[in-house]
Amino acid sequence: MDLKIVGGTVVTDRETYPAEIGVAGGRIVQIAQKIDAEAGQTLDAAGCYVMPGGIDMHTHLDMPFGGTVSVDDFETGTRAAAFGGTTSVIDFAIQGKGQSLTDTVNTWKKKAEGKAVFDYGFHVAVTDLTEAVLAELPAMVAAGVPSFKCFLAYKGALMIDDGAFFRILGKAKECGALVMLHAENGEILDVLIKNALAKGQTEPKYHALTRPPEAEGEATSRGIAIAHMAGAPLYIVHLTCREALAEVKRARDLGWPVYAETCPQYLLKSFDNYLEPGFEGAKYVMSPPLRDKSNWADLWTGLVMDDLQVVSTDHCPFNFKGQKEMGLKSFAQIPNGAPGIEHRLMLLYQFGVRQGRISMNRFMDLVSAAPARLFGLSPRKGAVAVGSDADLVLWDPEAAWEISAQTHHQNVDYTPYEGVSGKGKPRVVLSAGRVIVQEDRFTGQPGTGRFLERRPFGR
Ligand SMILES: [Zn+2]
Repeated sequence: MDLKIVGGTVVTDRETYPAEIGVAGGRIVQIAQKIDAEAGQTLDAAGCYVMPGGIDMHTHLDMPFGGTVSVDDFETGTRAAAFGGTTSVIDFAIQGKGQSLTDTVNTWKKKAEGKAVFDYGFHVAVTDLTEAVLAELPAMVAAGVPSFKCFLAYKGALMIDDGAFFRILGKAKECGALVMLHAENGEILDVLIKNALAKGQTEPKYHALTRPPEAEGEATSRGIAIAHMAGAPLYIVHLTCREALAEVKRARDLGWPVYAETCPQYLLKSFDNYLEPGFEGAKYVMSPPLRDKSNWADLWTGLVMDDLQVVSTDHCPFNFKGQKEMGLKSFAQIPNGAPGIEHRLMLLYQFGVRQGRISMNRFMDLVSAAPARLFGLSPRKGAVAVGSDADLVLWDPEAAWEISAQTHHQNVDYTPYEGVSGKGKPRVVLSAGRVIVQEDRFTGQPGTGRFLERRPFGR
């Protein structure tokens, strides 16, 4: 036995119980009240929860956007994530115009190889559907990429039309893929953005005012209807508002296979942040935008009632200096995205579990077990079970923290959560049985992360 963890309380999406865990060859080999076998290393988890590492289903590392590139690559991004207790990411490989999907995924694999400090996988974003690309979709599933992202927004760039979306859904159903949808009405947004700019409305707040919640609600409703016509399951990414949540709830109440995620920023930040002095509002320019605070309670209820199944980050960091500033003269030139990969578990634990909104088991489901189940990683990831990868977090529920760009590990010059404080963070983080973070020190190695070949949806 390589390693054993003693003295802790195991927590998964279903259970909470005291146990010792034995690890060999990167996997969990024993779970018992008491493990007598000798181990090369013993970790003391006294006072800690021992839980499966977080899985972030929505990240954009080393991603080109609007003439620049997100500043965390697969090394800095996964390392920062590890400090917060996340041990797998599924990033988006985004098809360029005319590019094959195989080439797209290979491009992203090259970004990750030699860099990632823990395991990673990819979704493929289909932005230019041709007959050849449609025919390539089953090969993506066979290659371990069983999730396709579609955009109903970003007209003239990433957006596809309803017909293309319908065809992708049909093929996804055949080959066992889950289609993920960015749900905003790109045609309407395009008009609103042009109108605002023509009136000289260029400050960051107009980014939000030109992307109203109704445009998200409409696209969510339409996306669900189109998926239902195709007979395919659908996953709505970064849901922000009650207009969209109502559509997801309605579909789920009808028994349709519709799933959705939200992100910490939509639970904790609001439209008011766009009104911060000077150009500060640019820090929060992301799509969909932050909404009115009155949505927070609805989103928390969605998480409790399982109308929302997953919390991911949409981590897409751009520096305030030099990158966000590209939009000083026009909000439309501000690169879209914000950092968060490091703080997802801490924020959800503090504001969800500690404040009594969700249980510890529900927390584990939202950040680890449900992502593993929906995206073909269960039971290898998202579980504490014999045979599962030893991606484990020793979580100290009393450890205090305060978030600051001065001390965070993300490679970006600001955080939307500057000054936010709470309790509960990792004491030790393991990836495949190796300690990669211990007592706030990184002990991992770039390049040790493996590409995750995921199973088809529901198979
Ligand atoms: Zn995204």
